[in-house]
Amino acid sequence: MIIRTESLRRWVAAGSSPVDWCEENYTVSSYIAEFTNTISNTPFFTIPVLCIISGVWRSYARYASLGAYVQFFLIFMVGVSSAYFHASLSFLGQMMDELGILWLLCFSYSFFVPNRYRPKIFMGSQSHVIALFVASVLTIAGFAAPQLNAYALFIIGTPVLVMKVCELTLYRDPVTAKMTQVALGCSLLGICVWVADKVMCSFWISLKIPGLHNIWHILMSVSFYLDLCLFAYWRSSSDIPTCKPTMRYWPGTTVGIPYVHCRRSEPK
Ligand SMILES: [Zn+2]
Repeated sequence: MIIRTESLRRWVAAGSSPVDWCEENYTVSSYIAEFTNTISNTPFFTIPVLCIISGVWRSYARYASLGAYVQFFLIFMVGVSSAYFHASLSFLGQMMDELGILWLLCFSYSFFVPNRYRPKIFMGSQSHVIALFVASVLTIAGFAAPQLNAYALFIIGTPVLVMKVCELTLYRDPVTAKMTQVALGCSLLGICVWVADKVMCSFWISLKIPGLHNIWHILMSVSFYLDLCLFAYWRSSSDIPTCKPTMRYWPGTTVGIPYVHCRRSEPK
């Protein structure tokens, strides 16, 4: 696709996005349109960076899947794109933010969904090809009606919610039950907060609150990471018998950032 310089200039222009959130623009800084909506993306950068610096996912990457590192990169990019979007309200920022989430979801499905939830066609390395194809097609479709992209992402993300409910009710693994409740709580509360920011904006402004979208960012950054831990654990414990996963924490042994540790064992 050839993008003309003129189109690109329009895409990066401040305020060129059709989407504008509840927070009033340029109230704190003349350079940043939505100040709290921009800085609340910080956890999207810090969590992946901490995970990589600490090296806690190294055993999972070695014995189970390199997918965790793909997810760290995509979560980081979602944070960068979202901060850029809320700081500029540009069309390019909006598309980078939404398409980042789309690619994150597509590759979450191909890397981490346990086989018990997968249709036959979505098994093995073929699933990455399908994820790549679907993400590419939806990326192009995303330009057709950008104002609907956020709603489409909720639909694409719904199976994650359904699988978490199934794990909690049908399989109920004691190791992950509490974390699943927290992850589910963050996702559902995040959706409520996202809707409340949209439909009750004048109320929040009358209370001198800069909307609730900033809280959505915090809840989603926690939820994305917990989902990664949960699905990495479920996937490896059910489908990768040599991995022998355990849920651990860093830097404490029971508190801190959770992660999945693999202890290799010989297949029987
Ligand atoms: Zn946002």
